[in-house]
Amino acid sequence: MKMDSILDKLGINKVNEGASTGTKWLKAGGDPIKSFSPVDGKEIAWVKSVNRKTYDAVITKAEEAFKEWRTWPAPKRGEVVRQVGEALRKYKEPLGKLVSYEMGKSLQEGYGEVQEMIDICDLAVGMSRQLYGLTMHSERPLHRMYEQWHPLGVVGIISAFNFPVAVWSWNSMIAWICGNTCVWKPSEKTPLSAIACQNIISEVFKANNVPEGVCGLVVGGRETGEWMSNDTRIPLVSATGSTRMGRALASAVASRLGKSLLELGGNNAIIVTEHADLNIALRAAVFGAVGTAGQRCTTTRRLIIHEKVYDALKKKLVAAYKQLSIGDPLDEKNHVGPLIDTDAVNNYMDTIKEIKKAGGKQVVAPGVLAGKNYESGCYVKPCVYEVQNEWPIVQHETFAPILYIMKYKKLDEAIAMQNNVPQGLSSAIMTLNMREAEQYLSAMGSDCGIANVNIGTSGAEIGGAFGGEKETGGGRESGSDSWKAYMRRQTNTINWGDTNRIHRNPHH
Ligand code: NAD
Repeated sequence: MKMDSILDKLGINKVNEGASTGTKWLKAGGDPIKSFSPVDGKEIAWVKSVNRKTYDAVITKAEEAFKEWRTWPAPKRGEVVRQVGEALRKYKEPLGKLVSYEMGKSLQEGYGEVQEMIDICDLAVGMSRQLYGLTMHSERPLHRMYEQWHPLGVVGIISAFNFPVAVWSWNSMIAWICGNTCVWKPSEKTPLSAIACQNIISEVFKANNVPEGVCGLVVGGRETGEWMSNDTRIPLVSATGSTRMGRALASAVASRLGKSLLELGGNNAIIVTEHADLNIALRAAVFGAVGTAGQRCTTTRRLIIHEKVYDALKKKLVAAYKQLSIGDPLDEKNHVGPLIDTDAVNNYMDTIKEIKKAGGKQVVAPGVLAGKNYESGCYVKPCVYEVQNEWPIVQHETFAPILYIMKYKKLDEAIAMQNNVPQGLSSAIMTLNMREAEQYLSAMGSDCGIANVNIGTSGAEIGGAFGGEKETGGGRESGSDSWKAYMRRQTNTINWGDTNRIHRNPHH
């Protein structure tokens, strides 16, 4: 399928309005954002960003829609989400291709993102019948006490460029079955993928007479995100992005005593012990470090290797990196696609300068690719350096395929190195030794939100709660009981007796 016909199928025009209340597009009123593909540097289309007036109109509509949406039984809301999943199945191919072309991730990962959206719809449908509360015994006679969960209201969703669609769906599908209305501010680097999603779900919302305003969209940059953070009409802002963004957003939301759900940066490590299966370790490390060109929040950035297997694994790594083919991510023979833009390339180059200045030893050389097939200027070589964990540059998340390797002697020391960074998202240990694995998963082990054994750091199944600790922000999304973040808890006590009956009780 050619890109023009993909855009056509997804209802994307040359110039698009970046504001919607669900099934209706509004005049956005702000400056246009031009979306360029990092694959070939070509302009794909324009999206007009929202001005303050249009933003306010979308939030007002979401507030109004909440009044009706909250009265729909949760399983009925779940039925709408089930149909969204069906629509996404229908559009998986064009949407996956657009995500891949606009963001630069491989086609398999583009399809994978849409599959994650489908999976979260399925999960949310089941959840819509399981929004359980507890009941407890009251200390008072003839009283009953229980807990129930109610929706919050308008949920603001701010997403990052590296998952243009999946992370929005993790939030919105669950927020919807809980009875909230949602307003999405996608990354300004991938606005077309958001427009496509809005077109897909609007068909379903229309067919089900869902109140206008349940699914809002506001395209804009940082300023639009700041409007959301400061907006008292939005009780919960769920934000995915850098720690810098999370810090600014969290303090704005907290100062108005709102809630935020944060999914921020990672600095993920794999520990490879002397008891590891080195082939499994190698595959996990290479896939984790170079997949999505190192632009995943769960990308493997550090490899902490036992001294006895250090040289052997290093040799295997060098050989594996030689096999990597870099190029158009829509071509399935390539393993590594481009970075998102030339700013990201500059960031990669600056980081390499820092590593060298700190004394990092090159294991696999870096480089920016130029010439035919690399016209966008966004293609870089995945590289590997020997470093020390405590160096400031190693403590920092660089969103690029740069892998740091380091040596250890004792497991306690390796775990301390792994945990000794400000971020706490994903982590893994490679070992066939039961004691090592159990120590790693115990309270003395990994301090991250995700800790794996013999599986790498990147990727996650939607059935589990996803998120991380420390500077990663502490939020949890997706499976398990993460739905509770989108609801408010109410404790109810009911006195079903009368005073006379209580007086007749022999214990009183
Ligand atoms: P970014 O922080 O630059 O932008 C993320 C979003 O926040 C964008 O929509 C942006 O417009 C908005 N924004 C920026 N500043 C803001 C502010 N002050 N107030 C409100 N909104 C603001 O991040 P990015 O470059 O798009 O994405 C990469 C980052 O996202 C990495 O750090 C990565 O680790 C992180 N990430 C984390 C997860 C996770 O689940 N933990 C998932 C994906 C990405």
